[in-house]
Amino acid sequence: MVLLERLEQDLSKFFRLNDFGPDPAFSRFIPAVYEKTDLDWKREFEPEFTERFNGLMIRGGVEVGKIFLAVFPTEPILERFLEEGKRGDLLFMHHPITMECGDPRGDWGRGFIPIPTPLIRSIREKGLSIYTCHHPLDVHREVGTSLAIVEALGGNVIDSFFNECGLICELDETDTDSLIQQAEEIFDIPYVDFEGQKRENIRRIAVVAGCGDKISAMKEAEKKGAQAYLSGEIHCHIDNEYGRTRYREMMAYIRETSMSLIGVSHAASEYLVKKTRIKGWLEHRYGLECVLVPQVKWWM
Ligand SMILES: [Zn+2]
Ligand SMILES: [Zn+2]
Repeated sequence: MVLLERLEQDLSKFFRLNDFGPDPAFSRFIPAVYEKTDLDWKREFEPEFTERFNGLMIRGGVEVGKIFLAVFPTEPILERFLEEGKRGDLLFMHHPITMECGDPRGDWGRGFIPIPTPLIRSIREKGLSIYTCHHPLDVHREVGTSLAIVEALGGNVIDSFFNECGLICELDETDTDSLIQQAEEIFDIPYVDFEGQKRENIRRIAVVAGCGDKISAMKEAEKKGAQAYLSGEIHCHIDNEYGRTRYREMMAYIRETSMSLIGVSHAASEYLVKKTRIKGWLEHRYGLECVLVPQVKWWM
């Protein structure tokens, strides 16, 4: 058992939450999505969380016995946490709200979706805790989301792009098809989203976990010599006007890029670090059991 208070302070120090301002994404999206629900989110979430949008979000029992690791608070993930978690247990996630980016071979997504109020109530009643860390985890120098992908690919970081969220790496020569196969294995996904050119002799790859479907970031990576671009998303498949406009703009850029663009799903791209770095780090540091909670479906 570890005291929640100690764990909270320790994690917040490790992720340097005080050095970052309010989370650039969730300081906008949390108010926006919860405004449309009946949840008084400012009262339900920890006061510090409602200002930083990172850190301890829901405070449960004082002692943590087990840590569950996931990326998004999807309903199946929260239901499993409720079923298996005991008073005081902690769910550590990258996102405080789910992001549905859509399935390139299936349904388009709904974008950001809030945690249903009844699930928040049940989590509180059971004395369970939730901690999330977004941007500070993406850019972390030891356990960053993009860094974990570079490591899994066997690459060496030589530069960054996209405001340090993306990393440029070099690796042993490969080609597009081998890279796609490698990505499917690393991320345990049935297929990738592919666009752009198929290439031989790939040595330099741009990697960005999550939403790398930004043309400006792709152009920057290409300028820095990347021959392939691997990200969670290479397309926005959000089922609204915004999503459809972004998709059209990307299709126009794709005609002119020389890179191989490979999407591995937003969720899987950010889950990897939990599996390869964070689980071991937490177990070693606190002697607590950590349970990985993968999603059943990564493309969503
Ligand atoms: Zn994300
Ligand atoms: Zn991320």
